[in-house]
Amino acid sequence: MKIADKVSKNRIENQIKTLAQIGATGEGGITRLPYTKDERAAVALVKSYMEEAGLQTFFDQFGNLFGKLEGKSTEAPVVMTGSHVDTVINGGAFDGVIGTLGAIEALRVIRENNIPHVHTLEACVFVSEEPVRFRAGTLGSKAAIGDFTQSDLDRLKDKDNISLAQAIKECGFNPEQLESVRRDPAKIKCFVELHIEQSIILETKKLPIGVVDQIAAPTNFRLTLKGKAGHAGATPMNMRNDAFMAAAEIALEIERIAITIGKEAVGTVGEVKVIPNAINVIPGEVILGIDVRDVTSKRKDEAIAEIEKSINNIAARRNIEAVIEIIQKQEPVKTSPQIVDIISSTCNELGLPWCNITSGAYHDALNMAKITDIGMIFIPSAGGISHAKEEFSSIDDIYQGARVLAEVLVKLAS
Ligand SMILES: [Zn+2]
Repeated sequence: MKIADKVSKNRIENQIKTLAQIGATGEGGITRLPYTKDERAAVALVKSYMEEAGLQTFFDQFGNLFGKLEGKSTEAPVVMTGSHVDTVINGGAFDGVIGTLGAIEALRVIRENNIPHVHTLEACVFVSEEPVRFRAGTLGSKAAIGDFTQSDLDRLKDKDNISLAQAIKECGFNPEQLESVRRDPAKIKCFVELHIEQSIILETKKLPIGVVDQIAAPTNFRLTLKGKAGHAGATPMNMRNDAFMAAAEIALEIERIAITIGKEAVGTVGEVKVIPNAINVIPGEVILGIDVRDVTSKRKDEAIAEIEKSINNIAARRNIEAVIEIIQKQEPVKTSPQIVDIISSTCNELGLPWCNITSGAYHDALNMAKITDIGMIFIPSAGGISHAKEEFSSIDDIYQGARVLAEVLVKLAS
């Protein structure tokens, strides 16, 4: 018997549809920001799915949810799987959700069919994966690996000035017990996450499964450029310190540097704040939000160094003051070659064509990689669209992803 054949397409489809109603906005998207009523309602629904599946559920004091299926050995390290159910503002119904529901379905069919497994299996829902409410992402998994401090809890605030600590408390958890949230690496065997690709490679290659071999990670920084505001009519061109013109030149440099490095290197200027932002005033100040990613730390650091050099040159030539502030720096990771082998051989057994793939987006798995072996299974995203109401993956692809996940978990936990 193949455990993959026990996975229920109907059940997953119904659960996705039910979950999508929570936080549904008038504009056709879904908004479930962490520690809000809607996000907690989604987590509660998922908890009920875990219980229906026969899993023992528990929360940690950060608000992460777990559903456990005990193995033959209580000593053997746990095989973890899962994702998240929080969303961006007006996001889609699949990001995080398919990895969450796929994990529960996999554990359910393993239990219902009495598949023997030595290792305990755990489905997890990490809280606050999207960097929207607290402007920093993958917080639940960061706390679970112990990469989080009490001061982070107070420092991170939402737009209404509510701290993360306060938000956690309001949901009935105790953020002061951060130490209890931390998982012991010795007690975890591995972490596997099923996720939508959020890019167009699988769709372009017409493949149902991507086996992630590396995850790119971002360095995010804020660049403040200070020039001199002036009258757009009265200030001659040769007497200006236009902060926006420096910003424009820097943005093009970032593009050029990323293209020159090639391969997986990407550079994005996604935020621009122009001050005073008036049609007849030379911009006196510009703030840029810059995101640079690559799959090796060395190449990413080299790109950042080159960008910094260009910023300084351009600022000096234009007589502009430039201040660079690093917001976050994450290290890219390679997934476990053994898990890559298990996922790809499982695809072969199930007759599913696959390819190795780089994850350009980062996930909770990126944190988990700091304490355990990780693997990721990708399924196609229509048009590569994600973090938008148009986000879509077909139920057939989701079903195949869940089938692969179930087989992989059986192998990892046996
Ligand atoms: Zn996600």
